[in-house]
Amino acid sequence: MKVKYLPIICIIYLLIAVGCKVTRHPKIVATHGDKPNKAINYKTYRSAKGFNSRIHFLVMHYTACNFERSVKLLTQGGVSAHYLVPDISDSTFIARGYKEQEIFNLVDEQDRAWHAGVSSWGSRTNLNDTSIGIEIVNTATEKDSIFYFPAFHPEQIKAVKNLATHVLSRYPDIKPIHIIGHSDIAWDRKTDPGPQFPWHDLYLAGIGAWFDDETKNCYAEEYACNGLPTQDTILNLLSKYGYNTSLATTDISYQLLVRAFQLHFYPQKYDGVMDIETAARLTALVTKYFPAKG
Ligand SMILES: [Zn+2]
Repeated sequence: MKVKYLPIICIIYLLIAVGCKVTRHPKIVATHGDKPNKAINYKTYRSAKGFNSRIHFLVMHYTACNFERSVKLLTQGGVSAHYLVPDISDSTFIARGYKEQEIFNLVDEQDRAWHAGVSSWGSRTNLNDTSIGIEIVNTATEKDSIFYFPAFHPEQIKAVKNLATHVLSRYPDIKPIHIIGHSDIAWDRKTDPGPQFPWHDLYLAGIGAWFDDETKNCYAEEYACNGLPTQDTILNLLSKYGYNTSLATTDISYQLLVRAFQLHFYPQKYDGVMDIETAARLTALVTKYFPAKG
């Protein structure tokens, strides 16, 4: 870890420590009628095994607007996220007097931030209940179905990696395949964090899932010889990996679903058209993370 990020990590630790003190063990004095009881005892009988963390997912977003507007939307609007990672080259961030990369905590991790909306991954829906949401300032836009995806600033990506690593160290139930984009869990209406988000770099840093090239190349050879899997087979593979395929009932919705997969795992091509490379990447992922039993 670079020294320059130590203050950021220290601030996160401090925020979490303060958050825990405030919300985890309140000094409530239970009452019985008019007579106050003793304070709640949090020490003597602690459950050893029969519980787990509510947090299972880490969801990445871009804000689709500059820092100033992102702050306004995420702190005063009807949406929010646990963390906001600004872009140090954003003029509205600089105008606020900031000179270094920052990570802002907007919502306590114990609370439910409203970042995912209607969403689904694997057997879970409404991922706000079970996720940590990271909003990354980026001015991606869409007009008349034409997308413009600006690159993320390298310092911003370093900060996202540090933040994600820190979150993962505290929530062991967040598996690699549970580190996902908004477009993965709401593919019919979302494109964030978009094709510029360096999912493969994050994977190399121990964050999230990626396929093995060797396996992918084998499947690519097989499909080149024998043809692509059928659409039903592709849908089964996407469903097995986590995507909600129940909405892919038309050619257009199927294309949106394939595009969501490509935005994450084949960002060089996100036209939503299934091809050998896309199918091979998908099959290699399922082979790696859902190996056949027996
Ligand atoms: Zn989003």
